[in-house]
Amino acid sequence: MRGALGGPRVLLRRLREVMAEPVSAQDRLDKIVVLIAANMVAEVCSVYVLRVDGTLELYATEGLNRTAVHLTVMRIDEGLVGTVAREAEPISLSNAQAHPAFSYRPETGEEIYHSFLGVPILRAGNTLGVLVVQNRAHRSYTEEEIEALQTTAMVLAEIIASGELTAMALPGAEPAARRPLHLKGLALSEGIGLGHVVLHEPRIEVTKVIADDLPGELKRLDGAVETLRASIDIMLEDEGVARVGEHREILEAYRMFAHDRGWIGRMREAVMTGLTAEGAVERVQSDTRARMLRMTDPYLRERMHDLDDLANRLLRQLTGRAAGSEHSKLPDNAVIVARNMSPAALLDYDRTRIRGLVLEEGAATSHLTIVARALGIAAVGHMENVVGQVDAGDAVIVDGVSGEVHIRPPADVENAYVDKVRFRAKRLERYAALRDVPTVTKDGTPIELHLNAGLLVDLPHIAETGATGIGLFRTELQFMIASAFPRTNEQLKLYRSVLDAAGERPVVFRTLDIGGDKVLPYMRAIEEENPALGWRAIRLGLDRPGLLRSQIRALLRAATGRELRLIFPMVSAVEEYDRAHHIVERELTHLRRHGHGLPERVLVGVMLEVPALLFQLDQLFSRVDFASVGSNDLVQFLYAADRGNARVADRFDPLAPSALRALKLIIDKAAEYGKPVTLCGELASRPLEALALAAIGYRKLSVSPASYGPVKAMLLELDLPAASAFVEPLLGTRGEVASLRPQLAAFAEKAGLPL
Ligand code: PEP
Ligand code: MG
Repeated sequence: MRGALGGPRVLLRRLREVMAEPVSAQDRLDKIVVLIAANMVAEVCSVYVLRVDGTLELYATEGLNRTAVHLTVMRIDEGLVGTVAREAEPISLSNAQAHPAFSYRPETGEEIYHSFLGVPILRAGNTLGVLVVQNRAHRSYTEEEIEALQTTAMVLAEIIASGELTAMALPGAEPAARRPLHLKGLALSEGIGLGHVVLHEPRIEVTKVIADDLPGELKRLDGAVETLRASIDIMLEDEGVARVGEHREILEAYRMFAHDRGWIGRMREAVMTGLTAEGAVERVQSDTRARMLRMTDPYLRERMHDLDDLANRLLRQLTGRAAGSEHSKLPDNAVIVARNMSPAALLDYDRTRIRGLVLEEGAATSHLTIVARALGIAAVGHMENVVGQVDAGDAVIVDGVSGEVHIRPPADVENAYVDKVRFRAKRLERYAALRDVPTVTKDGTPIELHLNAGLLVDLPHIAETGATGIGLFRTELQFMIASAFPRTNEQLKLYRSVLDAAGERPVVFRTLDIGGDKVLPYMRAIEEENPALGWRAIRLGLDRPGLLRSQIRALLRAATGRELRLIFPMVSAVEEYDRAHHIVERELTHLRRHGHGLPERVLVGVMLEVPALLFQLDQLFSRVDFASVGSNDLVQFLYAADRGNARVADRFDPLAPSALRALKLIIDKAAEYGKPVTLCGELASRPLEALALAAIGYRKLSVSPASYGPVKAMLLELDLPAASAFVEPLLGTRGEVASLRPQLAAFAEKAGLPL
């Protein structure tokens, strides 16, 4: 492009000067449109800003009637400007008035301008406004001109996103960039958290967008791309890391993108318009996101995340900023916002400062959710594109009860939540008042209500709730937060403090359930095609008996003179149980021989979470002392639906007759053999589900601490014979339904059960 004032680079430099001037936001915009018009040899340059009410307001113009500024307002489905905003794509026309979308606004005086070039003002792929130039003559804007205007729009995006313009707007008509957002997703962990956004993977702030030295910037970009390619090649060559599976596929996709001429070409072109290398990466990424956000194909949407990740890697390299350096700077009242994260990553944060967790993905029984619940952190998932819509430090409310998230909430919403928090506190007080009331249903059936735990922070909950005991102690959580493999002595200390905290109450320790999504940071991860079905839990324990042995030894010694209840995770065959049991026997012999104290009694049990065990129940119940149903895994494997995959995790309802029949089969068989069975999956933690479990015969449930009160309150009001009489015929009906949830909810409502 040959602009009158020396092309896009000169324009960008002038814009930089204007940005630094201590003038009002309006003056700044007015100067900018004059500069752009002159530079583009256009008679008109206008800025339209997207408002909270979804309309576009003319904020500044050179060339149209100045009196139209702040008066001309268009709907987003109206005119060429609306189309640019909606589609987030440039529109270039030499005869705009002939276009069907053209909408004439007499107050602007634009009837004399024929050619039109409009580009979206984008930030992280979200439209903030539209930048337009117009010419009297019928002219075709060149590719370079379109490109240059898009680059200029980036500068405007910064002004709009900074919130500078908000002060001059009328209430209800503020720029949409900083508008309050109310999103609805999936409630993952109960609780309400008010705080400020911390991005788990912080966007890399590009502070220097305008280039001083173009050839130098091109070289920096090329260098960064080269390094990126080399680092992907190294990852792909690392056999252990990337031989198989999803990880390899992602890396292959990365390699393809990193060599994609289109992508690299667009970034180089963006540099040529006057941007720094990082400015160019950011601009191209924002355009790409805008396009991809409008696609509905889940495969393509997934690729957007790959591209985001690649762009971030480039930015990190160009700005010299390391990943994950933000952890240390966590504010009080932090609400972590992420696409997804591993449970270990959540445990890495200073938990005392986290008020909430907001995820684009997430699932109700994923281990991340379980950890969030264990820590009492309100969490909500299925929040599409939330990462792209927030800025670090934004005020946010996480409602883990209703699954809602309010970003930059207006004062009335915030006040309502302050009330809600107070109300919840009252309810919690009511639950606390039930502490010493025995858990007995209305008809007099006692129910054992235990707690799930796994961290030291869980222990005070035993006394607070008055729980019967700890129905499941997930030992791996403590391993996940350690920086190195805990020695036998450290393990021993931890297990002893758990037993001390429990006092006379029983504790069921589960041996390490690692693998799948539970990764130990200090253990080399093995890439597997299907980690949930892979080398995990007892399989790993039996193949590496040293690990299992040292844990069992620590547990036996911690329980000297007391009772030890021990359970093995992910057992698929009776023979595995026998082998694990044998290790316990050997360790007992070893301790005896060396004169160590022994537990008063050792009870050994099995987790029922692999469907194959449903067909080995006779053999199993004749061996074990007790069992615990891990419904999270059992349901995932019954329906072949990954519990951690947001797309399928909730596809099948565990309240389907098929799932309840499987659960009933277990409890009926256990009764035949007189063996105690607890249900410790998340299923028991929801009152309606707990009602179904009690109705089909479960008398021992183990729940997360936050669920203790609500489940107990329900049980106290429950007429168990009536519930059983209601549910049992539903399991026998011939017309199979997808879920008995509506029927159960109706029963509960009629019975006035608190849910
Ligand atoms: C389960 O699978 O239901 C269970 C209790 O174990 P985890 O959630 O730790 O896999
Ligand atoms: Mg499990």
